[in-house]
This record gives sequence, structure tokens and C-alpha cells, in this order.
Amino acid sequence: MSDRASLRTLLEAELAMLVRRQERLDDHLHNRSREVPQDWSEAATLNSGEEVVEALDERTRHRITELRQALVHMDDPEWGHCTSCGEAIPSQRLVVLPATRLCVPCAEAHGG
Ligand SMILES: [Zn+2]
Repeated sequence: MSDRASLRTLLEAELAMLVRRQERLDDHLHNRSREVPQDWSEAATLNSGEEVVEALDERTRHRITELRQALVHMDDPEWGHCTSCGEAIPSQRLVVLPATRLCVPCAEAHGG
């Protein structure tokens, strides 16, 4: 399996997981009497309240968008290459930041 293929598998798995989480968050936000799903009930309890759920919802949505875009663009031969220096961006970085267009040294040179 090539790096690119295993990266796609990883991103697809994360996307599927987040879509399921998003569905549960939506259920909770739109039906507040429903019990909090177990895997994030602890965080919600610790910080008490809907704000946490809403923040999580927003973060999850953002990540889903990022992953979907990456999965669409990763067939493009340019994808995964730094737009500044043209070097291949390491898979580890692409897993964390699928939307990134810069390698680490260039991102640092550009201030993030
Ligand atoms: Zn670069």
C-alpha cells in the first residue's frame, strides 16, 4: 500500500468516525432531553453545559469539512506537496492538518 493510499484510509476512517459523532451531537443539540452519549459525557459534565457541546459541534464540523476537502483533492498530483518549495509534505503532517499546503519549514517561515 502506498503512503497516499494508507493516508486516504486513515482520513476516511476519521471522517466516518466524526460523521457518526456529529450525528449524535446534532441529536443532542436538537433534543436536549436526550442522554449525553457516553464517549464525551465526561467532558460535558466537567465543563457543564451546552456551550461545550456547541464548541465540540463546531470543531467537529470544521474537521469534517477539512477531511472531505482533503479526500477530494488528494487525487490531484499537486496535493500533499508544499505550494512554496514543492517538497512532499510528510504524511504525519497531512494526517494532523489535511488542509495544509505548506511543509513544516515553509509553514514556520511563513509564521504558522
Ligand atoms: Zn515547503
